[in-house]
Amino acid sequence: MKRIAILGSTGSVGTQALEVIGAHPDLFEVEMLSAHSNAALLIEQARKFKPNAVVVTDESKYKEVKDALMMLPIKVFAGQKSLQEVVKWEAIDTVLGAIVGFAGLHSIMAAIDGGKRIALANKETLVVAGELVMQRAAEKNVAIIPVDSEHSAIFQCMVGEDIARVEKMILTASGGPFLGRKPNYLVNVKASHALQHPNWNMGAKISIDSASLMNKGLEIIEAKWLFGLRNEQIEVVIHSQSVIHSMVQFTDGSIKAQMGLPDMKLPIQYALAFPQRIPNAYKRLDFKDFPSLTFEAADYKTFRNLAIAREALQRGGNAPCVLNAANEVVVHAFLQNKVGFLEMSEMIEKTMDMVPLIEHPTMDDYEQSDKEAREYATEFLKKSQLSIY
Ligand code: NDP
Ligand code: MG
Repeated sequence: MKRIAILGSTGSVGTQALEVIGAHPDLFEVEMLSAHSNAALLIEQARKFKPNAVVVTDESKYKEVKDALMMLPIKVFAGQKSLQEVVKWEAIDTVLGAIVGFAGLHSIMAAIDGGKRIALANKETLVVAGELVMQRAAEKNVAIIPVDSEHSAIFQCMVGEDIARVEKMILTASGGPFLGRKPNYLVNVKASHALQHPNWNMGAKISIDSASLMNKGLEIIEAKWLFGLRNEQIEVVIHSQSVIHSMVQFTDGSIKAQMGLPDMKLPIQYALAFPQRIPNAYKRLDFKDFPSLTFEAADYKTFRNLAIAREALQRGGNAPCVLNAANEVVVHAFLQNKVGFLEMSEMIEKTMDMVPLIEHPTMDDYEQSDKEAREYATEFLKKSQLSIY
């Protein structure tokens, strides 16, 4: 029996994780759930899965959750600090990191400090502070098992293999809803278009990142830290069917791919059950439904975020943290139709030029760089709005 804590249980990954857990009550038990402000869903989940504790990080929601769960033996906590404490509880053995953005970093670090095995969906944690996170995990002898479908694919390809025998890793990208589109089209797209992903149904932030290809940029950085690669060993290929989730090419030229229908429940289940593979009844891939699988180069000119993310990786240090913070700010604004689709890349690039490079940042440096980058990006947003009116 694995005792699981889900950080971000009310999100797209969190709710699918609860489906996986609900289908295997003999294997998994929910110890803790956390949400930010969706009190109603957190309460419903707590009533159903009866965890030991729930944490609502938005403190204004504490009373609502506490009152609703009063008659149940469930401890209720509020705030980020509580989350960082509860995640270390003895009873928990696996922590699923499914909070979105920089907000997920500290609770994952706390879970690593507590010696918990990590199933990691929150890629921003590795983008921001990958070096520190992986170092701490190694010191604490903690396994980090990726949930992101590409990285889960690579992780699965690597079972039984030696990282020294890897020539390169090939991250597949669906290309998102704007595959093949050019700037003259993208200049007018709105959040409602960008949220329509052809293959995956995900939270709002990652859906915009997928449309702008920033998601793939973040995934390049995520892969570097997870697997200890050199930057040039990570390639991206557009594969619009999302059937091959990613590939590893070894030093003898042989390539392994992991395939399946695009369904996040698979990588979630794999990460929670690892090293077991457990049966399920999800729809199977039938190759006859995919008579041709296609591959093409990514359009780095139109989707500049890919190049910008590579640049951040190349600069190293706090640059990916700055990239991430600026991206979070502009994506939030884009979701409210306050900035144009193409402008997002411009503002991220400008922010990256403003925040000074720190080559070997500490956690405090990351905290500071994140803050600075958010301030600059917010300034750029304000200026661009002023210039419209
Ligand atoms: P969602 O937006 O659907 O869910 C985010 C979760 O995080 C919610 O539970 C939300 O709580 C919580 N949350 C939001 N802000 C905060 C905060 N400031 N402090 C604490 N908790 C917070 O996101 P997704 O599930 O789509 O994505 C989660 C992570 O997984 C992201 O990093 C994403 O990149 C990654 N991922 C997602 C995939 C997907 O298919 N969705 C695929 C691969 C990776 P509340 O609901 O109360 O706001
Ligand atoms: Mg992914």
